[in-house]
Amino acid sequence: MILRRALACSRLSQRVALTSSVARWYTPTIYKPDGTTHTVKEELTPLTKHIRDTILATGPISIAQYMQLALTSPIGGYYTRGQVFGREGDFVTSPEISQMFGEVMAVWYVMHWEMLGRPAKTVFVELGPGRGTLMDDIMRAAKRFKLFYASIRGIHFVEKSPELRKLQHDKLGCDWNATITVSDKNDSGKTPLSSVSQHHGGLEVGWHDVLEQVAVDKDCVPLMMAHEFFDALPIYKFEKGENGKWNEILVDVADSNTTPVQPAGPAQLRGSLQSSSSMEDSSASHFKFVRARGVTSNAAMVLRDQRFDSLFDKGDRVEVSPESARVMIQLADWISANSGMGLIIDYGADWTQGDTFRGIKNHQFANPLQSPGSMDLTADVDFSYLRFAANGKAKCYGPIEQGSFLHSMGIQARLQQLLQSTSDNKVQKDLVDCYRRLTDVHSMGRVYKVLAVLPNSSEGVPIPFAQPTAEDPDKPATNRS
Ligand code: SAH
Repeated sequence: MILRRALACSRLSQRVALTSSVARWYTPTIYKPDGTTHTVKEELTPLTKHIRDTILATGPISIAQYMQLALTSPIGGYYTRGQVFGREGDFVTSPEISQMFGEVMAVWYVMHWEMLGRPAKTVFVELGPGRGTLMDDIMRAAKRFKLFYASIRGIHFVEKSPELRKLQHDKLGCDWNATITVSDKNDSGKTPLSSVSQHHGGLEVGWHDVLEQVAVDKDCVPLMMAHEFFDALPIYKFEKGENGKWNEILVDVADSNTTPVQPAGPAQLRGSLQSSSSMEDSSASHFKFVRARGVTSNAAMVLRDQRFDSLFDKGDRVEVSPESARVMIQLADWISANSGMGLIIDYGADWTQGDTFRGIKNHQFANPLQSPGSMDLTADVDFSYLRFAANGKAKCYGPIEQGSFLHSMGIQARLQQLLQSTSDNKVQKDLVDCYRRLTDVHSMGRVYKVLAVLPNSSEGVPIPFAQPTAEDPDKPATNRS
């Protein structure tokens, strides 16, 4: 286990270097003998055609609608593909880099379970579990704390992708064929179904499309985790015009006569990836960004809060995810009602940003409007917006930087243990590389943040956070910092 993932970490950096040099060879331009050029449009897949037809029928669509279709559409949405993580996929997440990440998270839950007076029944709930690696690591580490492990009654995953559900079954040792589909409690009959299986350790594991479907006993304390989940939720984007009104940025077909809007260049994007040539060259795409003519109903509804009028100037852009607020409200309600606890870990900032929406493909940033369904689409998480949504429902602590969280929770001690468990220099070097990647401020240590959510009634501050972060509407939160 230690060996395999540590080696994967070093091979990944070689792969990033290789793909970035190869990607530059491919441009969609044909150079003709007479010196003129002709740009070849990318393939018209069923999903691309569906999005094009939708726009042609109804007019330009919101970025949120585009994201939703490109990520989760059953006719080729990105997350329906399954193998999107890891070095063979498009991006690598912290749990995939090293087992140390999940082990440290397990310690956080154990410490707070102790703080709560060791409740007899707990249940893990993870939003967007990917390959299931994080939960597998948490469970393996949790087994070392016998009383804590004995309190765990089950695991619930909120996961939209059927392909990823299969990978999660494999990871947790659940039998895909033995999984039983359970009717949803909701009597509308329209919401998708949940399913239940058995973990090899005897724990029941459930899969759900949405958090609303997760039903736990009243006396069961939920331990929640959302790692790189919120960044995948749809965002709307707006720009403040000369008249002080917000104009929505929409997605139109490339060959319409509307004027395209350029997104910010990759230099303004933060993170540890490089940008690919497709980020600069959008000529092969079937789609383009445009500015809505009047005030859209989305602008009126999404930007209702006065902070958007008072904090931003003409020319500023904001990216807002009402879906994130919806999930956050529910998560906060749930945690408060059941005396639970939650961690939200993601890349982002504690203010509203304006130009972070991007694609990620082959470990590089890419034009998000290129080949829908072929790449991950993401935007930095606005933690201030999540806290704002939870305000009055649960207490939020942080966000604090991932590097600082992992150090405070003892990742260095765990690294030492693992280093001592092997005499292979190569494995030792790879372990240190993975540790650096997770914690270094120039890698994932600063861009990734950790937010803790505790019930309103909770006393005491969770380790390693300071006092709850107050919601201050006058905080100068802009996209220009
Ligand atoms: N937490 C994992 C995976 C992150 S990728 C890790 O860090 O490795 C995002 C995950 O969220 C995927 O599992 C994806 O299928 C899931 N997801 C994305 N949008 C979703 C939605 N609207 N509802 C439920 N799951 C979603």
